[in-house]
Amino acid sequence: MYKKFLAVLGICALIAGSFLAMSGGSTSTSADAGNKFDSPNNGKVKNVIVLIGDGMGPAYTTAYRYMNDDPSTPKMERTVFDNHFVGMASTNPEDAEENVTDSAAAATSMAAGIKTYNGAISVDNNREPVGTVLEAAKKRGMATGLVATSQVNHATPAAFGAHDVSRHNYNDIADDYFDDMINGNHKVDVILGGGTSYFDREDRNLIEEFKNDGYNYVTSTEELMENDSKQMLGLFAPVGMPKAIDRPESDPSLEQMTKAAIKQLNKDKNGFFLMVEGSQIDWAGHANDAVGAMSEMEDFANAFEAAIEFAKEDKHTQVVLTADHSTGGFSIGRDGDYNFYPGPIEAAERTPEFMAQEIIDGAAVENVLNEYVSFEFTNEEMNSIKEAAETDNFDKLYSTISEVFNKRAGVGFTTSGHTGIDVPVYAYGPKSEVFSGLIDNTDIAVEVFNFLK
Ligand SMILES: [Zn+2]
Repeated sequence: MYKKFLAVLGICALIAGSFLAMSGGSTSTSADAGNKFDSPNNGKVKNVIVLIGDGMGPAYTTAYRYMNDDPSTPKMERTVFDNHFVGMASTNPEDAEENVTDSAAAATSMAAGIKTYNGAISVDNNREPVGTVLEAAKKRGMATGLVATSQVNHATPAAFGAHDVSRHNYNDIADDYFDDMINGNHKVDVILGGGTSYFDREDRNLIEEFKNDGYNYVTSTEELMENDSKQMLGLFAPVGMPKAIDRPESDPSLEQMTKAAIKQLNKDKNGFFLMVEGSQIDWAGHANDAVGAMSEMEDFANAFEAAIEFAKEDKHTQVVLTADHSTGGFSIGRDGDYNFYPGPIEAAERTPEFMAQEIIDGAAVENVLNEYVSFEFTNEEMNSIKEAAETDNFDKLYSTISEVFNKRAGVGFTTSGHTGIDVPVYAYGPKSEVFSGLIDNTDIAVEVFNFLK
């Protein structure tokens, strides 16, 4: 399933190369020739698209490169990430007890430009709200959007569109999206992701409230595609959306949501701010699930390509992509073996999470594995999964199935939590150079605020 993207990536490399040739920014005409600031226009930034791969440390982007390698050529092909790499970012929070960040503190840094404690949703260490880049854009009369594959009131999008002392106050965060007005307008014009259970509640129905205020409410890919309203609420799951390879066609991909958001936001003559999160790279990392992680990397890469394609046409859009932290201590190579094998990961047509759920719901272990996995399980692997299935413990079964893939692929994990390593930064647009070198995650917000002045 990963091979089909090679052709697309090749075309993108050619396009990027021809832009370079036209701009005269480099003597090289190949996107393979290293990092550059491949801006087609050195003018003003009108639109800003920030993409955040939750948990996407460097091992994830490297593994994604291996997954897309064409083994018949000696060089490893560059990915959409590689072609736009500009630097690295430090991520540490300002927390009394922890110096490895959580998603909320990191997102606050990228949204509001400050360091804060783990769990904070755009409030500082005194629990005081701090203005975000999305709010600054709305104050300037720009259109704004939040897109995620988690519930859309999860930590990362929340830090752009809400303020709360705790990321766990999901209902309050959803309320903020509706209640916080800027110049008499709702703060966020396009809201797409999971989370119906937080918007349609016993105490309050935010879906009806948004509809009453003119938002178009969509719940399927088809409705999303047909949307013609500049203000839109799209909720596609009670909490998080299914992972990309588990997703039915009735649920939109991150790329489809990104394109649908851009289409509406771009109608605003004042420009727009959009945040897109590849939310569940992190969730797969927490579960130590390499199959799920690569499923989400591909979904996120396609959304990045969509953003770049728009920016190339538009010429006044700054795209910046990074991660909030790395998750799981994901490593390429394990147990002394100098190999990463993409094959076993490609062999999975569903995530171990999906397979574990079918087994817990009563399907026979062999039937599920044979239906969704194209390699033959060894007796030892099969027995370990059957033993886990007998416990009726979903988490144990999910991790046992994941570990079969991890061992075969040659990848390891060191933790069920986050790690403190620097994260890669990618950019495309008129001001990409401001994100280059070693920056801090707060610099993302600082620079975006500069664009919005
Ligand atoms: Zn995170």
